[in-house]
Amino acid sequence: MDSARALSDARPTPFWLEDPGRPTAQPALVGDAHCDLLVVGGGYSGLWTALVAKERDPSLDVVLVEGQEVGWAASGRNGGFCAASLTHGFGNGLQRWPAELGRLERLGADNLDGIEATLTRYGIDAEWERTGEIDIATQPHQLDELHEVAEAVAQYGLDVTVLDRDELRAQVDSPTFLGGIWDKEGVAMVHPAKLAWGLKQACLGLGVRIFEHTPAEALREHGAGMAVRTPYGRIFAGKVALGTNAFPSLVKRVRPYIVPVYDYALMTEPLSDEQLAAIGWKGRQGLSDSANKFHYFRLSADNRILWGGYDAVYRFGGHVRHEYDQRPETFRTLARNFFTCFPQLEGVRFTNAWGGAIDTCTRFSAFFDTAYRGRVAYAAGYTGLGVGATRFGAEVMLDLLAGERTERTELEMVRRKPLPFPPEPVRWAGIGITTRSLERADRTGGERNLWLRTLDKLGLGFDS
Ligand SMILES: Cc1cc2nc3c(=O)[nH]c(=O)nc-3n(C[C@H](O)[C@H](O)[C@H](O)COP(=O)(O)OP(=O)(O)OC[C@H]3O[C@@H](n4cnc5c(N)ncnc54)[C@H](O)[C@@H]3O)c2cc1C
Repeated sequence: MDSARALSDARPTPFWLEDPGRPTAQPALVGDAHCDLLVVGGGYSGLWTALVAKERDPSLDVVLVEGQEVGWAASGRNGGFCAASLTHGFGNGLQRWPAELGRLERLGADNLDGIEATLTRYGIDAEWERTGEIDIATQPHQLDELHEVAEAVAQYGLDVTVLDRDELRAQVDSPTFLGGIWDKEGVAMVHPAKLAWGLKQACLGLGVRIFEHTPAEALREHGAGMAVRTPYGRIFAGKVALGTNAFPSLVKRVRPYIVPVYDYALMTEPLSDEQLAAIGWKGRQGLSDSANKFHYFRLSADNRILWGGYDAVYRFGGHVRHEYDQRPETFRTLARNFFTCFPQLEGVRFTNAWGGAIDTCTRFSAFFDTAYRGRVAYAAGYTGLGVGATRFGAEVMLDLLAGERTERTELEMVRRKPLPFPPEPVRWAGIGITTRSLERADRTGGERNLWLRTLDKLGLGFDS
């Protein structure tokens, strides 16, 4: 079947958010509210901040405001790869923080264990499967790069399993696969929306007051704390934590550090037993190929394949808009590439096609700081790997608001910020040149041109 036809019934909504378990929204704030800690944003970043704050101090009065509905944005529409890595992968961490990468990896592993323990503690059923992830080479130069990564990983005392072509194809069968490395412990698959909704329920259970459809419009100092304006009320808070991801930060000076980049995904109908048998995939691992423009793919609980990535789209001006969630040309490319990877699945149809904004920064991993003399903390810049790392970011924000020196706040990654993006139109032009250079590198055996090599030297980049 032609790949466009496979898309003809696809609904323009994230599969995960169609779940019948989607909770009703909490009422909006009307009037004034007072609290010790105000959390802005009802994605994982905000939810973890509220939850961990209550776990650290049950007597703390915590309010969370969400502009739309908890989990509607990236947190409810992502691929559900919950990774231990805090650095957007081992390779990026090695390039930027070689001296503290061992510590970052340990903190990341603890963080992933902490997420798993939280799900157990609050009885959250988020379809958690700790099956690991296989990073796959589909071109010979990628195989060399993967072997280099495996060697470096071993030097840090970490464990990955190198798979040759036949070993990989015994796990999951595609004629395009040449080999891979399997991180068995460091990644779990999760139902992203159920994770967000479960965290919301856990927060409510601990006494966090949540107001949905309540955008925080402005921040200002008020006495010893902060005052925050919302459409129908005000909140007076001792401290404020911002988990607003790719949306315009309430602290304006943060804005040049982040650009919203749109990432897209397809979901197939559930595979039959014969279709599943045709591709193997008994271990249900998360998979991704290792091109610059990479795909990520995984099975859902009911054996659909989520297939996402490849295009990472920045639009001039850097706005976050609902109409950007749909991009038919990207969906057609993704569908075509899906059938190239799995020709055995000829005839499978897609039920959902959607996109969402990620908060790309030039170093691809989160940065943290405070504003308003330590009363406001923020964490942003998770790029495409925030499902797990946002919990770590929540801990960092709470450490910073408490004025505590911890192992986390001592990290260079926490103390230093990335380079900001230049203003428009230079930003748009620069991202365009970078994207085209990355595409060319994928076609030419990974060869990085002068532009990419210059960016590498400056520690700058563009990724999803
Ligand atoms: C298609 C896609 C696939 C992805 N796949 C993966 C993956 O497989 N693995 C992975 O690790 N990461 C993935 N990511 C990234 C991951 O989803 C994010 O890093 C993570 O969800 C970030 O959580 P967050 O809470 O910071 O942001 P969000 O989930 O975007 O939440 C921010 C919230 O803040 C609210 N908000 C913003 N401004 C205000 C305001 N002024 N007042 C009140 N509320 C406000 C928004 O309405 C929003 O709900 C993917 C992202 C996308 C889009």
